[in-house]
Amino acid sequence: MRLDKFVLKSTRLTKSEVMTQISEGHVSVNGVIETRVHCQVHEDNKIEHNGILLVTRPFRYMLMHKQTHTLSSNLDGHYPSLLTGLSIADKDELHIVGRLDADTTGLVLLTDDGRWSFNITRPERDCPKVYRVVLAKPINDEAVKKLQQGLLLQGETKLTLAAKVDIVNEYEVKLTIREGRYHQVKRMFFAVGNRVNKLHREQIGQIVLDIPAGEWRLLTHDEVELLS
Ligand code: URA
Repeated sequence: MRLDKFVLKSTRLTKSEVMTQISEGHVSVNGVIETRVHCQVHEDNKIEHNGILLVTRPFRYMLMHKQTHTLSSNLDGHYPSLLTGLSIADKDELHIVGRLDADTTGLVLLTDDGRWSFNITRPERDCPKVYRVVLAKPINDEAVKKLQQGLLLQGETKLTLAAKVDIVNEYEVKLTIREGRYHQVKRMFFAVGNRVNKLHREQIGQIVLDIPAGEWRLLTHDEVELLS
């Protein structure tokens, strides 16, 4: 972790106060003053602020049921961020693990543990995500076969990984994918001549969405471990 992040997590200082305190020489790492804010430190380093040992607060891991017309980013846009209505402390420290489009609903993970979220989203991780998809046209056998085999998305040169397709009815499928390309599900159905009318994420790895729209809960220790 970067030194400024560590100090931010383990004190009540603001970001700019952290920068000043480090660059003015108030922070030491293993007994040596460190003024480089980006310097990498480890949890087992002895990090002190004005001679007081710092201990990081535990990371937070949360699950949220995203409603439609909310944004998975902290940036301003046409719709409010899904963090807007969240009444928890220090929410600007949280980030979203794997974004959903504004009109997509469902399971979103939030954390302040960058290593955990990187581990979930890195391509080699092969983490399955399950989407319930409502289609504009009935699904046909040929489309199912292409989705299962892997297909080329517009503007790309690499086939998608094989997807799992479970048919709910002719207009609705459950699609399981192991990647997170830009607008991937919508583009996969576009590539087989269909269109997505509604998209809802039900599951990431073994974590299943189990709360009503707009609500959130902390992940259990076991759930955090399952995705670690
Ligand atoms: N694929 C999409 O097309 N949109 C999402 O929000 C998530 C996956």
